[in-house]
Amino acid sequence: MPRPIEALIHVSALAHNLARARACAPDAQVWAVVKANAYGHGIEAAFEGLRAADGFACLDLDEARRLRELDWRGPILLLEGCFEARDLELCSRLKLWHAVHCEQQIDWLAMHKTHEPHRVFLKMNSGMNRLGFTPQAFRAAWTRLNALPQVDEISLMTHFSDADAQRFGKDGIAHQVAAFQAATADLPGERSLSNSAATLRYNQLTEVRADWVRAGIMSYGGVPDYPEHDANHWDLRPAMTLRAKVIGIQQLQPGDSVGYGSSFVAEAPMRIGTVACGYADGYPRHASSGTPVLVEGQRSRTVGRVSMDMLAVDLTELPHAGLGSEVTLWGQGPKGSLLPIDEVARAAGTIGYELMCAITRRVPVTVQHLE
Ligand SMILES: *Cc1c(COP(=O)(O)O)cnc(C)c1O
Repeated sequence: MPRPIEALIHVSALAHNLARARACAPDAQVWAVVKANAYGHGIEAAFEGLRAADGFACLDLDEARRLRELDWRGPILLLEGCFEARDLELCSRLKLWHAVHCEQQIDWLAMHKTHEPHRVFLKMNSGMNRLGFTPQAFRAAWTRLNALPQVDEISLMTHFSDADAQRFGKDGIAHQVAAFQAATADLPGERSLSNSAATLRYNQLTEVRADWVRAGIMSYGGVPDYPEHDANHWDLRPAMTLRAKVIGIQQLQPGDSVGYGSSFVAEAPMRIGTVACGYADGYPRHASSGTPVLVEGQRSRTVGRVSMDMLAVDLTELPHAGLGSEVTLWGQGPKGSLLPIDEVARAAGTIGYELMCAITRRVPVTVQHLE
């Protein structure tokens, strides 16, 4: 028997969440962002749930190739563009749209031999200071691109650093929206500004509305602005469940400790279960003792430190639980129970994004297809 742990991918939840992105941005086209192997869900499974998207946005050329192998003929956008000149050959061959964020990428395009001009997304650094042309340099980059026979349509793109919260006590996106608007006001082309957080929080504002939104985390049911809002508030459903089973039971007396470093010490008699899930599966080692779990759909908590292959959960109040009991580490539990990944992430000092992406290869993945 294989080790009792698995990740479930819920195709119907992906489809539901994509519909939520559409509802938030009814006039926009939706990029389903499938970078990082679809945030850990697997490109193929994600494609099944998100195929109603208008396009797929990714980073790796290999992910783009896999989408074409799935027979996706629609738009694919490389969010970081090309990493070297010869990547453009694959862009031509697979008809990939690509970001252009620096002069070197324009140099490569200018030297590229192609019969079919490329659709590009010119990226502005409107304040995040990661990738893109500054507002001052943007127009010159646009003019240069526009003169190239290798370039077809030029779309305009920027990315928010603080769409999920306030920035310095104020609205997190206003300064970037203003910079983008001012520098692009009289340029033609489609626009794309919003990630999930901006799509959920700001799409009612006209100045934020654009031709394309880029729905990443929300497609997978993760909440970008947790704990200010939760999945219920935004009507998002978890697309990934991580579950395992109890493989050992221990009875503790007051003063007994649990796990490495004896960081947890029982104050009263306790019954704990050892679960076949550890940090080598992608469960966060930094999840503090007391991180929520579901045991047979009922809430409990972890006890002590997470080890490589195991962690402990409190069964004291769950007398019916025992060897073989199902433990939901996050996602959808039995009988309609739910444990939001955002809650687990918070207890581990991180965000749902990191946990989804961190599921390791040794965890078998089961895709729950549509009925
Ligand atoms: C990852 C990414 C997104 C999606 O962000 P979410 O917060 O997951 O919605 C959008 N745009 C760009 C440029 C990205 O890199």
